[in-house]
Amino acid sequence: MKNLIILGSTGSIGTQVLEIVDAYPEKLSVTALAAGSNVNMLEEQIRKYHPAYAVLYDEKAAEDLKVRVKDLPVKVLGGMDGLLQAAALKEGDVVLTAVVGMIGIRPTIEAIKAGKDIALANKETLVTAGHLIMPMIKEYGVSLLPVDSEHSAIFQSLNGEPKKRMKKILLTASGGPFRGMKRQELADKTAKEALQHPNWSMGKKITIDSATMVNKGLEVMEAGWLFDAKPEQIQVVVHPQSIIHSMVEYEDGAVMAQLGLPDMKLPIQYALFYPDRLPMNMPGIDFFRLGQITFEEPDLETFKGLQLAYEAFRAGGSMPTVFNAANEKAVSLFLQEKLTFLEIAELIGEAMEKHKLIPSPTLSQILETEAWCYELIESRC
Ligand code: NDP
Ligand code: MG
Repeated sequence: MKNLIILGSTGSIGTQVLEIVDAYPEKLSVTALAAGSNVNMLEEQIRKYHPAYAVLYDEKAAEDLKVRVKDLPVKVLGGMDGLLQAAALKEGDVVLTAVVGMIGIRPTIEAIKAGKDIALANKETLVTAGHLIMPMIKEYGVSLLPVDSEHSAIFQSLNGEPKKRMKKILLTASGGPFRGMKRQELADKTAKEALQHPNWSMGKKITIDSATMVNKGLEVMEAGWLFDAKPEQIQVVVHPQSIIHSMVEYEDGAVMAQLGLPDMKLPIQYALFYPDRLPMNMPGIDFFRLGQITFEEPDLETFKGLQLAYEAFRAGGSMPTVFNAANEKAVSLFLQEKLTFLEIAELIGEAMEKHKLIPSPTLSQILETEAWCYELIESRC
């Protein structure tokens, strides 16, 4: 039995993790559930999965939850302290980090220190604090399994192959809802339009990130940390059907790929049961119906966010934090209709230009840089 601590249980990834728990109740149990403020859904989840602990980051919402579930033996915690406590619970084996944004950094670090294996969906954590987290994974002897579909595909494509013979990673991208459009066509795109992803159903922030292609930029940096790859070894390939989830090219020219229907349950389940592959109640790919799959070069002129991500990756140090934090703030303002679609990447670029690079930032410098970015972006609208 694996005991799960699920951070972000009420989100798109979190709820799909719980569907896998439903499918394998004899193999998976829930030790703790954590979310931001969604009291109603967390209460439902507590009544169904009986975790020993439940956390809401929003302290008021946590107080409300405490009252609602006082008939149950669950311990309710609030705030960052609650997240940190939950991440380190001795009863838990695996911490599945599916919170959105760099709020995931501290709980992930706490979980590693407590010897937990990490199933990582929360890419912002690795992008901003990869230089702190990757050495800790080794030091504490825990495993870090990717949940992001592309990284799961790369991980699977590396399985059993000599990693030192990896030439490059081919990171696939659907291109999002605005694929093929030019800059001027994007000027008046609304949040509603940007939220219409053609292939994947996901949380709002990552859906906007897919429309700007910032998500792919974050994934390039995530792949850099996970697979020890340099920027020039990671090539983004637009593949609108989202059937190939990514590929690895070897020195002899052979390319290994992982294919599947666009459904996050597959990479989530793979991370939970690795190295096993358990049955999944999902149709396979019908290649005859699919007919063809296609590939395109990314348009870096139009989707400047991807270009800026490579620049942040090359600069290293605190620059990926600036890229990520500026994006987090700008996306939240775009969702509130306070910024236009194109301003998201423009403001990321502006923040990167104004930032004075810190070569190897400590955790507190990362958090200070985040706060600096938030202030800068807020002052611009
Ligand atoms: P959602 O917005 O759907 O869910 C986010 C989750 O995080 C919710 O449970 C939310 O709780 C919780 N949360 C938000 N703020 C806090 C906080 N301050 N403290 C604790 N919990 C918080 O996001 P997704 O599930 O789409 O994405 C989660 C992560 O996984 C992201 O990093 C994303 O990039 C990554 N990812 C997602 C994929 C997908 O298919 N969705 C694919 C690959 C990666 P509440 O509901 O209470 O707000
Ligand atoms: Mg992805």
